[in-house]
Amino acid sequence: MTSLKGGCLCGRIRYRLSGVPHTVTHCHCSSCRKASGAAFVSWFTVALQELTWLDEAPARYASSPGVERGFCPHCGTTLSYQHVQWPGEIDLTAGSLDEPGRLTPTTHCWWSEHIDWVEELDSLPHYPGWLPDEAKRRQD
Ligand SMILES: [Zn+2]
Ligand SMILES: [Zn+2]
Repeated sequence: MTSLKGGCLCGRIRYRLSGVPHTVTHCHCSSCRKASGAAFVSWFTVALQELTWLDEAPARYASSPGVERGFCPHCGTTLSYQHVQWPGEIDLTAGSLDEPGRLTPTTHCWWSEHIDWVEELDSLPHYPGWLPDEAKRRQD
């Protein structure tokens, strides 16, 4: 596997991995939801020593005791998660990879906190780009 690279939306925070991620999962906990603004967050885990922040390191926010979430202070992209319980590891957002398709999530975690409609995602109409006007609906 050639090394995985990624970064934030504005490009000021970039990273490179020297190792192979060992866990790829969709997290449905309410903290990930609030931190990202997304329905759930897809994460992968690597050894801390296999991660290099290439320029700037992320800003950090202690979202709960023992937890630090890293994000770009310029554009807001959610990038990392570290827990004191696993000091040698860091989770990174799969969506921040330049080639996110190279990793395949194999599990859902914190399913006890998932939003009900997440179960229906595959059954919804799929459009290749912007929604056409006829697909825009008010919620009554
Ligand atoms: Zn940024
Ligand atoms: Zn989570």
